[in-house]
Amino acid sequence: MIKVNANQVDFNGIRLYGHEKVSEMEFEGLDNLVTFPEKMYYDLTVTLVNGGIVVSGKLELNLECTCGRCLKKYEHKIQYGEVCHFFETGEKSEIDLTPELREDILITFPQNFICSSDCKGLCPFCGGNRNVKNCRCGGAKVGNECWSELDKLDLASSKRKRKNA
Ligand SMILES: [Zn+2]
Ligand SMILES: [Zn+2]
Repeated sequence: MIKVNANQVDFNGIRLYGHEKVSEMEFEGLDNLVTFPEKMYYDLTVTLVNGGIVVSGKLELNLECTCGRCLKKYEHKIQYGEVCHFFETGEKSEIDLTPELREDILITFPQNFICSSDCKGLCPFCGGNRNVKNCRCGGAKVGNECWSELDKLDLASSKRKRKNA
């Protein structure tokens, strides 16, 4: 839990930094997509404002991902520098920032897992990694023809779009 005691915050702001155990952040459901590291780093400024506190700053988290095309493991670094939340202080002085920071990470969480945008993936016929070398298996020719059919389709549809525009 990343928390702050509002009584210790002043109008000049205090710096709150360190790391939080990722297991405490409750990223359930995402842990089958990626391997989370042990820690998430945060570097925040907490400032007293009228009626509450404002928390701003940045979060950092290194994910270990598996490429959906070639199955290679790669690292994806989440760096979110736009943390900005207002918390009403009210009666309570201790404020838990964890749910809001969790949301920040979810916003920046990758939508798909590809090691690089030009990853060629695995050959569907022999399973060879086409990033490493050009596949020379028998299936490759069939594969190419199949792709060229798709290319034709794409071309036709993009032409239509241009006409409509
Ligand atoms: Zn890949
Ligand atoms: Zn192949």
